[in-house]
Amino acid sequence: MKDERILELNEAGLLAEVVGYETDEVAAQALGSDVRTVRGSRFLDFTSGIAVHACGHGHEEIVAAVQDQASRIQHTSDVMRHAPQLELAQFLRELLADRIVGELPTIQFMNSGSESIDTAAKLALKATGRSKFIAFQGAFHGRTLFATALSCSNTAHWAAYEPFIDGIRDRILRAPAPRCRNCVTGASPDCVANEIGSLLEAHKGEVGAIFFEAQQGEGGYFPFPEHASRKIRELAQKHNVLLIADEIQSGFGRTGRWFAFDHLGVQPDIVVFGKSVGGGLPLAGIAASQKLMAKWQPGEHGTTFGGNPIACAAGLAALTIIKRDDLVERAAVLGERVKARLCKLVGSLGVHDVRGNGLMIGIELRDPAGNPDYAKVTAVKLGCRERGMLVLTCGAHIGDPAVDNSTLRLLPPLNVRDTELDRGLSILEEALRAWRGEVVRV
Ligand code: PMP
Repeated sequence: MKDERILELNEAGLLAEVVGYETDEVAAQALGSDVRTVRGSRFLDFTSGIAVHACGHGHEEIVAAVQDQASRIQHTSDVMRHAPQLELAQFLRELLADRIVGELPTIQFMNSGSESIDTAAKLALKATGRSKFIAFQGAFHGRTLFATALSCSNTAHWAAYEPFIDGIRDRILRAPAPRCRNCVTGASPDCVANEIGSLLEAHKGEVGAIFFEAQQGEGGYFPFPEHASRKIRELAQKHNVLLIADEIQSGFGRTGRWFAFDHLGVQPDIVVFGKSVGGGLPLAGIAASQKLMAKWQPGEHGTTFGGNPIACAAGLAALTIIKRDDLVERAAVLGERVKARLCKLVGSLGVHDVRGNGLMIGIELRDPAGNPDYAKVTAVKLGCRERGMLVLTCGAHIGDPAVDNSTLRLLPPLNVRDTELDRGLSILEEALRAWRGEVVRV
């Protein structure tokens, strides 16, 4: 189809606006961190398709794996296992062997992160026979109704459904935001773990699992405090509660370790993964010990498309590249470089905090009165775009829709070139300097 026709279609209101597209552009082609559009614009992509393209867009080995698999078999569903699924499961088993509780990590593939959060919840319900969960303030776990109820980071994600999800939330106990390092709630260093302890005592025998992000994503890029995570691990053990790590955004090297919970030194019972595991194709799932997974009987859960052969082949190629090219270590090194440069801005240009691990970095802006500066964050995001770079935002201030997105976030591919990284940071600094206080709302 001709480009003019594509641009006409783009104007025709064909696609629901509910997802809130970041730009009005139509993507045409992309390679590495370079995205070109139908209109002829070019962007340095520091979003990686929301933390999906760990190896950059269009990596030739992933493309080759997709082409090869597409020529063999494209879909089997639950009817028959296939080679890419088994090979990827073996890769994940080896990766998770010493990282999760119990032996022989076993995999259930699904399509999306949200669906995999539901999957983890179903396993926890079945395995424990209990019916309550604990989740944190600032958490984001996805868009299914259960994952929406579990989440509370960005008001727009859940407020429209409140009358219904309130019913689900009756079974979700809310712990404070795990932000001891950079406390915005006035909480003491131990409060998160103490609060979990109190909730578990008050609801003895009722809680099946605790969901946590070892670095909160949509909720502001706050790494989970280490001391609290260890205490929570002990408490979960004591109360026979499963600890579920949501590694959908933070997994597979993004934070400079294979998993964000590696920074904490805790072993979860269930790991939920997604995004970069599919090498750019839709793939997600959960991992748990063989013993825990065996609590399910055949037919109690399932999926038509989850673990699709082409997605698994792409995912296996991506994880193989991450391992072979030492991209986890690279993310750690580059993350420190980014932080060293941006930390110099803290206290000026509205930069209140620079945080996060590896290449999952948040830059929180505040106005001179110390309030969240949503206006500047929005203007800087647009300023970056005008200068040819795509960045995203996330929240830090729970419960106030006006300031949900008060943090800029950087998510370049883990194999971003040094020159591209430096160029991106220069663009960001320029956009921060250019803002003169005018309010921009999108
Ligand atoms: N959990 C976390 C931590 C996420 O970042 C996301 C997506 N941003 C999800 C769950 C939901 O994943 P998906 O969009 O694939 O359903």
